[in-house]
Amino acid sequence: MNRESKHILIVGGGYVGLYTALRLQRRLRRELRDGSVRITLIDPQSYMTYQPFLPEAAAGNLSPRHVVVPLRRVLPKVRILNGRVTKVHHAARTVTFQPNAGPVKEIDYDVIVMAAGSISRTLPIPGLAEVGIGFKTIGEAIVLRNHVLAQLDIAVSTEDPQVRRKALTFVFVGGGFAGVEALAEVEDMTRDAIAYYPGISPKDLRFVLVEAADRILPEVGEAMGRWTARELSGRGIEIKMNTRLESAEHNVIRTSDGDEFPAGTLVWTAGVKPSPVVNAGDLPLDERGRIKATPELTVEGVPDAFTAGDVAAVPDLTRPGEFCAPNAQHAVRQAKVLGDNVARHLQGRPLVAYRHRYVGSVASLGLHDGVAHVYGIKLRGFPAWFMHRTYHLSRVPTLNRKVRVVVDWTLALFFKRETLSLGQLHKPREEFKAAAAAGAKR
Ligand SMILES: Cc1cc2nc3c(=O)[nH]c(=O)nc-3n(C[C@H](O)[C@H](O)[C@H](O)COP(=O)(O)OP(=O)(O)OC[C@H]3O[C@@H](n4cnc5c(N)ncnc54)[C@H](O)[C@@H]3O)c2cc1C
Repeated sequence: MNRESKHILIVGGGYVGLYTALRLQRRLRRELRDGSVRITLIDPQSYMTYQPFLPEAAAGNLSPRHVVVPLRRVLPKVRILNGRVTKVHHAARTVTFQPNAGPVKEIDYDVIVMAAGSISRTLPIPGLAEVGIGFKTIGEAIVLRNHVLAQLDIAVSTEDPQVRRKALTFVFVGGGFAGVEALAEVEDMTRDAIAYYPGISPKDLRFVLVEAADRILPEVGEAMGRWTARELSGRGIEIKMNTRLESAEHNVIRTSDGDEFPAGTLVWTAGVKPSPVVNAGDLPLDERGRIKATPELTVEGVPDAFTAGDVAAVPDLTRPGEFCAPNAQHAVRQAKVLGDNVARHLQGRPLVAYRHRYVGSVASLGLHDGVAHVYGIKLRGFPAWFMHRTYHLSRVPTLNRKVRVVVDWTLALFFKRETLSLGQLHKPREEFKAAAAAGAKR
């Protein structure tokens, strides 16, 4: 190993981590070749998740494997380590690394990029941790799909009206784009699926969206948010605004409007908070626990440290005094500036500031339905849904993934989507363990 080489350590292989590494692979091609720079990226997973496609993966429109990007394949010049950084000792330029298996070790670096993103922001609501599921990872999308379809199996296989009612009640908490898209896509899939369940009619399904604020989908503006609420209500979805989830103990949902009912499914999408790795370390945090960033995406007051994305409080230069919202639109653009700035830093050149005016958002509400408010243009229904697909197709990283996504969508035009629960996937050893136990008794 070259003793003089500079070591760049990237913590997190999501939007910011992947795009920063891709940028650095290009900007530092010569240095990576002659060994004067090394890059290491650490993430528990060996892939980047394209989160905006999670609702379509949960609905079965896209294969889960096609909404993730294999890090080792797209980053051949970067060393990928799988595990978690559990502490950052920046003063000593070292992190504590817990591999997915094996002993903890310390890793030295010269420059750190903190890109660990966010986790679901939960509240101490009784029963939530036992009953609820988040919606941020590909694992959660797969489990949710299998779980929802398994509820239909339960409902047609029982004569107990309470068991049936619970199985056919689905609650989503949080009306931002993650919650609304997940709810709308899953509801759309469930309506398709019941065609194969003669005992279940659309009016037997109860989908409920619980939102603490007086509006949903703030990302597309007030008017389009109101339209979305009307559209979803028209599909029979109950929208409880100005309402909080109070308890979910034993799968009994209690909401602040006095309602109380059993539900077999509870999905929590009520916001995010920075990855907890930031709490164990010496990087400065703001009052919301995010790493304090400068407009140049360096960590405030700290040399050799950069940050961006959901984990960071990045000043929004287009709205003085405010910070960039935690979304992919900012994350991907910040990563490009961040990658350039790390290269500039190593080359002793001045850094550039990140500036991007939020252009609005697109959201899918199920097959052929959507809502969009982008560059001042408002669209709804099929045109918005089409825009959602073309926009995200243009954004999903690598040609390989784009082609696979188009193939999935094209197949869906000709064949009905699979509406089958592979719930056994979540307990794959049960059958073998039972066989082994039976064998031991003989
Ligand atoms: C369902 C859903 C739909 C969305 N739809 C949209 C949309 O339509 N438009 C939009 O603009 N935004 C959307 N977003 C938001 C967007 O995906 C995020 O803002 C974006 O992913 C943030 O990028 P990031 O790199 O900061 O974090 P992430 O992409 O979350 O990456 C963080 C990475 O860090 C890793 N990590 C965490 N802790 C550690 C640790 N201790 N050590 C090592 N690695 C660690 C994680 O495993 C992860 O891979 C959506 C989000 C969700 C959940």
